[in-house]
Amino acid sequence: MLKIVLPFLSLIFLSACSKNSSTNTTTNTSTTVPDVYKKIYGATSITSDGTYITIKSNGLPDHKSSYYATSNALYDNFSGATFGGYNFAKNPNSIAEKLYVFKIPVDPKLSTDHKATPLGPIGVSLNGVPFFNQYAGPMQPLTGEVVSFDRYWGHPAPTGQYHYHVEPLYLTTVKVTKSSLLGFLLDGFPVYGPEENGALVDKTTLDIYHGHIGITTDYPNSIYHYHITSTDPYINGSGFYGSAGTVSN
Ligand SMILES: [Zn+2]
Ligand SMILES: [Zn+2]
Repeated sequence: MLKIVLPFLSLIFLSACSKNSSTNTTTNTSTTVPDVYKKIYGATSITSDGTYITIKSNGLPDHKSSYYATSNALYDNFSGATFGGYNFAKNPNSIAEKLYVFKIPVDPKLSTDHKATPLGPIGVSLNGVPFFNQYAGPMQPLTGEVVSFDRYWGHPAPTGQYHYHVEPLYLTTVKVTKSSLLGFLLDGFPVYGPEENGALVDKTTLDIYHGHIGITTDYPNSIYHYHITSTDPYINGSGFYGSAGTVSN
């Protein structure tokens, strides 16, 4: 009996061993999408080629907005105070469906040139709506635009691209929390809300790119991450911390 069982057992061990090593080998070039990206619940698809995570999105907010057509179930007849306490003043644009393709590095790396963020999408938030930078136009401050932020602090561009320059209030107050992961910038580094460990993030702990290195719930081994704050530059400071991927729409 033993003579039969022992070789059988060793066979199991052998096969278990070889199975593990083949799993490890495939991890290095894995096309499995890491769980953290699955938090982007608004994406229409998320895939990986092992180097880049490709996130597709139609860019439509999943929350009420004054910029949806009145016939849309998500149309919001909003008035009153919006971001910064300003009285809401609607801009002439309306929300249009887009076909965003965000390609962000799966293994984000510090860059030496810290390229300036472009006008237009600079990252993607959990609901698939893009983040925009702190400018209304080339080096023009947002000052005149914030009055047009809707109930959840987003608004559409003349192109119909709905976007967030500041804290995406629907995410931080309805879907997740003010200390949660809210999305990623194009360089692959994650974006977190205005709070950390139950307290407002101290801006002096952020570098000129508007982030710092530390442990987060999603990255227990520590990672560079951006924080959104209530004052300019809101999401990103003086360019990307890492080498940016691409976005098309
Ligand atoms: Zn804008
Ligand atoms: Zn932090």
